[in-house]
Formats: sequence, C-alpha cells, structure tokens
Amino acid sequence: MEAERYRERGRFFLDASMKRGLEEQPFLEVPPPPEVLVFLRQHSGPPGKLVVQEGARVRAGEKIADSADPLGVPVHSPVTGTVLGLRELLHPMSGKLELAILIRTEDATPPAHPEETDPETLSPEEILARVREAGVVGMGGGGYPTHAKLRSGQGARYLLINAKESDLNVACDVRLLRERPAEVVAGIRVLARVLGEPQVVVATSTPPGGIPQFERLAHGNGFRVVRVRRSYSLGSERLLVAEVLGIEVPLRRYPPDVGVVVHNVWTAYAAGQAVRFGSPLVSRGLTFWSRASGGKNLWVLVGTPVRHILAFLGLAEEQFSRFVLGSALMGWALPGVDTPVVKTTTGLVGLERAELSPYSRPLPCMRCGYCDQVCPVRIYPSLILAAVEKKDIRALQRLHLEACIECGLCSYVCPARILFTPLLQEGKALLLAPALAAR
Ligand code: SF4
Ligand code: SF4
Repeated sequence: MEAERYRERGRFFLDASMKRGLEEQPFLEVPPPPEVLVFLRQHSGPPGKLVVQEGARVRAGEKIADSADPLGVPVHSPVTGTVLGLRELLHPMSGKLELAILIRTEDATPPAHPEETDPETLSPEEILARVREAGVVGMGGGGYPTHAKLRSGQGARYLLINAKESDLNVACDVRLLRERPAEVVAGIRVLARVLGEPQVVVATSTPPGGIPQFERLAHGNGFRVVRVRRSYSLGSERLLVAEVLGIEVPLRRYPPDVGVVVHNVWTAYAAGQAVRFGSPLVSRGLTFWSRASGGKNLWVLVGTPVRHILAFLGLAEEQFSRFVLGSALMGWALPGVDTPVVKTTTGLVGLERAELSPYSRPLPCMRCGYCDQVCPVRIYPSLILAAVEKKDIRALQRLHLEACIECGLCSYVCPARILFTPLLQEGKALLLAPALAAR
C-alpha cells in the first residue's frame, strides 16, 4: 500500500492522497487536436526563430523553429498540417507573453520511425548532435537543454537517473518505467555513453516489485537501483544527490561541479529515441488530476491545448475554476484552457469551483516558525518575507535566498495562508537587479 503521507523536514507531513491509485492507470493516448499551438521556446534558454513560412505545409516531426545559441533547442511540428501563423500567449514556464506557432492538423499519422542506429557505433559528438537536433530538453520540469547538460557533465563519476516522482499529482515517470522499460534503459545507456560511462544510479520510490521488468533490465546493464523514501522535497536535484550519493552540492554550484549528472527518466527515454531512431521530441506522458475524474495518465502531443484534453476526458470546462500546469505545489496557474502542453509539462491539475484558493485571504505573519522548520534547504522564509517587503537586498543575500528551490512547502504549512512563491521570486529579482543594471 502506498504511503498516504510524505514526511518532510521538521516532522511535517504532506497529504499524498492525490497519488492514490495513480500509478495503476495506464497511459491513454490523446488523439491530435484540430489545431496545435507550439511555443517557439520549450526549454530554459533563448527562443528559436521560425524556419517555416506562414501557409507552409509541414510534416509531423519537421523542424519549425531553431536557434544558433549554444543553449538553443529546435522545436518540431507534432502533426502534418498547415502553418496558420504566430500567436502571442502566456507561456506556462515563464508566465510571460511568448510566441507560439499555430498549425492546423491535416493528417494525424505520427512521424515515420527510420531504421534503428546502434548508439555504440556513434561518437559522443554525434550523439550530442542527434540529441540537440531532436529538441530534447529536461522533461522533469526544468527544461534545461539536454545536449548542453551532457556536454558540461562529460567525465562525471555518476549519472543519477531521477525516477523518484516527487510530485503528489504526477505518476507519468512510474508509468513510463512500467510501459516502456527497454526504451528507458536504452536511453540511459545513450546518456552514459556520452558522459564517458559513469556509474549509473537510478533513484526510485516505487516499492519492490513495482517496476520488475525495468529493474531486471537495469541490473542487467550494471545500473544500481536505489530505493529512496517517499518525499516531496527530494524532487530537487541537489537534495536528491545528497540523499542518494551522500555528496553535497555547494550553493551557487551545480551537480556536474561535484561529478554528478542528474537526468529525469523521460529525458533518458527521449534521448534514446532521438539517437536510435532520429525521433524528435513531439509528445510526452503527463498526469491529469481532478477531484471529479481522479488521476489519468495521458500520452499527449506537445502543443495540445488544455481544452482538447478536457474534451477527450469528457469534462466540461465550466466545472473548473482554474488549472495548474505541472506540480500541484509548484506549478503555474493557467490563464485559460487555450494554453498548450509543452515539453516540460509533467501534470495538469483541474481545480473545481468549490475548491477556492486557500491563499486568497492571507493573515499577517504570526511568527509561528513553521515555514522555517519545514524548509528543505534550511533557509528562513519568515525572515526572507520581511526582507522582501523592505526590499532589503543585503538581508536577502545574508539569508541565502538564492538557495530557495521554490518548492512551496512554506506556503503549505503557513497557518496565515501566505503564498510565498511570488514573494520569493520578487526577492530573487531584487538580488539579480544590481548585476543586470551593471551589464
Ligand atoms: S519555497 Fe523556498 S523558502 Fe519556501 S520552503 Fe521551499 S525552499 Fe524553503
Ligand atoms: S509559517 Fe506563516 S505565520 Fe508562521 S512564521 Fe512562517 S510566514 Fe509567519
């Protein structure tokens, strides 16, 4: 039986009942929508430029935008159809207005699978080029370009595969391990080859017997599978590295600086498909959750609007007051149901009209200290809150605000129902302001 509560720091427990039964739901394939909206930027890096004209007919899997920037990643059309033009709408990763390409679907046939290439016959440079060309990015939510992360991690001691799935509303990692274990293992082999054959460690919270085929294949390839306690905050890369490998990642440094490269299982899967078959990243699994429907694991084309997903599930748009894209605790509230799925979308939560935001009427801080006790990176959100209000940059530096992983646990435990995330982001912007002004 799955744990219904996750134990966090400071002896706080997180209600994990959303997760109940989620891992048992097989992926349902959502058919292509009549129109897809594909953002020019699907990762944490600069947006690409359109490489097709308005009115052009594009094939499924054809490149539609690219960038020459080292952190640029191309995007591809998920369908065969006609480019109707560019639209500006709020991006679910940045929360800002960004450009997306509108394509009318005319043929729903997925891109053809070319003959398989054996990754062992390719050099690391050839593999990196294939990963970039396929538009592979970190699919656990961060969206960092995978080719760049792999390049900076070459020679690492460890490749840590995050299959832990910390978010309460998401089960698509476990489903992938259950439904496509051989493809994930082949993808991990590809990543390990580029990195120079580090020790591969797979971190999972799935109880023994939950992913038997994957574990058998993983052990057969010499990977170490480590069971990690169910915890929400261990979704953070640096906390996971400390928990699994006992290696601390210092502040302002990254896991590759201490010889560790962390990738999500979906990234491994997508990299494997890219290198073996030249398949661009145009679809992914995600978990939809609402009180009415329960949890559903869905296989969805990138660019599919939320409206189409609701129609597929037979749910009326009007019954929801808002939607959160990604993690229930960390995700973005969507501006509307036209927002499309991007490469980093792990989940989608539909909140019903009755479920009003608990943060709509905050009280003044009552100095209970709960937020400080639960913070997984051991900073002091209550003091940071006061420093942000005073715009006290020195205090924010002293309080190490930059270590905040925006996990949302401080808001979760706060009896005054203070929503920290926007304030923490405001504080981070204050910290960055002097550096930006000096440029
Ligand atoms: S959001 Fe930041 S400050 Fe709040 S608990 Fe998480 S890491 Fe700590
Ligand atoms: S949990 Fe809320 S009320 Fe308690 S100290 Fe933190 S901000 Fe103040």
